[in-house]
Amino acid sequence: MKRELAGTARDLAAYLRTLDENLAEFSPAPSGVRSPSAPAAVPSVKPPPESPSKMQNKPAVDMDSLSEQVNKCRKCGLGHARLNAVFGVGSRKAKVVFVGEGPGFQEDHRGEPFVGRSGQLLDKIIETVLGLKRSDVYIANIVKCHPMKNPETPEAHGNDRPPTPEEISACRPYLDEQLRLIKPACIVTLGSVATKVLLGIDKGISTVRGRSYDYPVELFGPGHPITVIPTYHPAALLRNPNLKRDTWEDMKMLKSFLEKAGGE
Ligand code: SF4
Repeated sequence: MKRELAGTARDLAAYLRTLDENLAEFSPAPSGVRSPSAPAAVPSVKPPPESPSKMQNKPAVDMDSLSEQVNKCRKCGLGHARLNAVFGVGSRKAKVVFVGEGPGFQEDHRGEPFVGRSGQLLDKIIETVLGLKRSDVYIANIVKCHPMKNPETPEAHGNDRPPTPEEISACRPYLDEQLRLIKPACIVTLGSVATKVLLGIDKGISTVRGRSYDYPVELFGPGHPITVIPTYHPAALLRNPNLKRDTWEDMKMLKSFLEKAGGE
């Protein structure tokens, strides 16, 4: 028992050291450097209008065709202003899918989710606590195109905003289709917006985190739920390093879940 506790304390100390080094690289942000991709303000997001029971439980397409559909998509206004659609990245057989709210400036420019400062921090957390690489998990967002305050200026920094309920509703089916294809055991929602949308609840992340939930959409039929573990968006850790300990606890819960589920 004593040995176990000492091991846990060592793990936590190593994690905090690694994140401290990472945060020190980023903070304080040099003047002129933009804020992390996720905006500070959290919108009031209503649950999506789709009724879980009405959703199909078989994938309609393969991942490449789905990605092509997203690349051509103009179902909402975001599709007209984006530089690149940001479909998702990682293992298509991942046991865990990390979901954020939407792409920011860097992601829009590179066409890949979580590549800015918060993305680098997410990679460190995945590596340090889970012992996995970015390529072992899958990373995606609720909306696939960059929500901008001013869609006329995609090259401007500080132009991020949260997606609207309408944009979320238009894009949400793509995420569920990705989940049907990957068949993960677990979804980690990053931040309040992703958590509210995927759990269909209207509570902030600090209230909801610290336990697991069943994904309310039956993607694989009754009796085959996906576990949802909510945690802070890495951008929140960049703003408030005090949150990293709670994030560590959430990731340890994920690690133990994955070990029981038998792999990454
Ligand atoms: S955000 Fe989603 S629904 Fe809107 S245009 Fe982009 S891919 Fe289509």
